[in-house]
Amino acid sequence: MKDIYNYNLADHIKKIIRVNGPISVAHYMSETTLNPNFGYYISEHPIGSTGDFITAPEISQMFGEIIGLWFGNIWLEMKKPKDFNFIELGPGKGTLMSDALRALNIIPNIIPSANIHLVEISEVLKNNQKTILSNYNVKWHNHISQIPNKLSYFIANEFFDSLPIHQFELTSLGWAERYISINQEEEFCFVKGNISNLDALTKLKLPVGSIVEISPSTISLIEEIGKILKTYNGVCLLIDYGDSASSNVSTLQGIRNHKKYNILKEQGKIDISAHVDFKSISKIAKKNGLSVYGPTQQGKFLTNLGIIERSRSLIKNSPKKEEIINNQLNRLIDETQMGKLFKVMALYSGSLFDIPGFN
Ligand code: SAH
Repeated sequence: MKDIYNYNLADHIKKIIRVNGPISVAHYMSETTLNPNFGYYISEHPIGSTGDFITAPEISQMFGEIIGLWFGNIWLEMKKPKDFNFIELGPGKGTLMSDALRALNIIPNIIPSANIHLVEISEVLKNNQKTILSNYNVKWHNHISQIPNKLSYFIANEFFDSLPIHQFELTSLGWAERYISINQEEEFCFVKGNISNLDALTKLKLPVGSIVEISPSTISLIEEIGKILKTYNGVCLLIDYGDSASSNVSTLQGIRNHKKYNILKEQGKIDISAHVDFKSISKIAKKNGLSVYGPTQQGKFLTNLGIIERSRSLIKNSPKKEEIINNQLNRLIDETQMGKLFKVMALYSGSLFDIPGFN
């Protein structure tokens, strides 16, 4: 279907704008990332050194191992439940899940008790996941609503940042949604829509020029996860780009070939993401009766869980790799690299024990 009649994603989006008028940032993001014929996640190989961006599990096996054992610890605290869902949202190449399961092998009976479910929209990435996880019984879904309900452990690394957001800007006349339109040169551009009276916005006391981002897809997914956790018990670990306090600027970002890229160009060929609003996630989770841990910095979380000790033992086993392993460790935990920008949050259905990693 790609390139049929020389038609491409930019033409497709322009057609929508000509017929219906300017589109929201959320609509633009869904078309560019998820359009069934040309969407970025549908048709590209985004992740890894040969892709457009590298994620924490692709940097080092230590990341997935530490996360796996974090869940193992909780499973032991929960008195080894015999039948639970282990669900990953947006598993990319499947590396995190594969490293996590390998590490969990040291805990007797946990793997046979786990029903592994992956929520993935991309066929290209699903094939990667099938190969790397071929030794396990795994089920795939397009949405969490397709997963049978039971005690559930969720993991999502760099997933929520890819979900569409709406942007609102405070003008001298009031809050206006930012839309995407086409200018006289036939190029995409941002325009402002009508003044919005959304309650959540008009209550805010911010200077003119401030931008507020709202992700209805994130809100509804967290509501659904919250209901599952509250009804069937479990825990959800979220790791993503984000500031705990909203910065009130646009956090939209395009990445292609490891470099920042204009999000209004090369539609479907670049990754578009936005910072995750952990404050709203925390509010929704608490409203659903869950205990919320974090957000804490990724560097602190991994250090609390013993990543430095793990790196030392890997170096002991392969002394020649000392420099490589130390570099990988730094990328994951150093404040100037991923350590501070990435945040970790856990949502937990109970209060019987303290969730590890957040003290
Ligand atoms: N967690 C992985 C990949 C992050 S990239 C890692 O850390 O390496 C985002 C992932 O989410 C990709 O696998 C992408 O295909 C998937 N994805 C994006 N939007 C999705 C959606 N709406 N539904 C399901 N999967 C989605």
